[in-house]
Amino acid sequence: MHYEKIFEEIFHELQLTEDKGQVAEYIPELASVDPNQFGVHLTTVEGAGFSFGDAQTQFSIQSIAKVLSFVMAYGRLKSEIWERTNLEPAGTPFNSLLQLEIDMGIPRNPFINAGAIVICDILVSQLADPKEEVLAFVRRLSGNSSIHYNPRVARSEKDSGSRNYAMIYLMKSFGNIDNEIETVMDLYFHLCSLEMSCEELATTFLFLANNGVVPWSDERILSPSRTKRTNALMQTCGFYDEAGQFTFKVGLPGKSGVGGGIVAVHPGKYTIAVWSPPLNSKGNSYRGMLFLEQFTTVTRLSIF
Ligand code: GLN
Repeated sequence: MHYEKIFEEIFHELQLTEDKGQVAEYIPELASVDPNQFGVHLTTVEGAGFSFGDAQTQFSIQSIAKVLSFVMAYGRLKSEIWERTNLEPAGTPFNSLLQLEIDMGIPRNPFINAGAIVICDILVSQLADPKEEVLAFVRRLSGNSSIHYNPRVARSEKDSGSRNYAMIYLMKSFGNIDNEIETVMDLYFHLCSLEMSCEELATTFLFLANNGVVPWSDERILSPSRTKRTNALMQTCGFYDEAGQFTFKVGLPGKSGVGGGIVAVHPGKYTIAVWSPPLNSKGNSYRGMLFLEQFTTVTRLSIF
């Protein structure tokens, strides 16, 4: 398949319609990003890579990192993890407090903010140096030792983090946080600040398309069963209250972030990462969603 040609055609087709998205504005580092940047990269499990546009430009991956921290905690706690977080779609925005009160401090899933904060609490309990070990894990998955946290983004996340603090305090009141609040939030804010390019993202997620094994290093990250379950969670919970739309239109498990990135996985075949900063009202990349919808329609490479 001529992926690069297909990418170019879809890109030009999308240029004909108005981009109704808005870049995230809650922190200056995201508000000042050039909204016209666009990148896409596909990697097959056999190792072939196909790029278009700004596929090598690093951006803030934000909530996409929630999958990576979850995988780290899941591999350690195994099924005990479900005592700390549920695994159902939330149907509410990523930073909603509503359901958390009703569910007595147990987040609906690990991919909304509350769930990712609980996962950070688990990692703080499990790891001697959580920030360094999470970074080392991501570097291993990407095969790239230059992946980094952006300290300015982490600082801004903290400065604008009132809702996230509200969530952790609420969960602590229900007994679902074991560690010191600042230590857990420091890890959470750094996680949000990870920067990667589309090419690095697609490479990092490749183990999820390959039964839990990094194809080029042969390192097993998750068992086949837990890999299947992680993909299932991305399918049902990867896009907040738009997970149904993404499943309906794109038909792949995936995860989005407010930096405008989306990564999607076709088990057994490929991973694809797309980046376009303007977001729709649900906090998902406006053009990224449309691009992937077109891509799986044209190529018929969806799982449904
Ligand atoms: N940093 C953002 C937050 O915590 C992450 C949200 C996202 O990417 N959806 O609110």
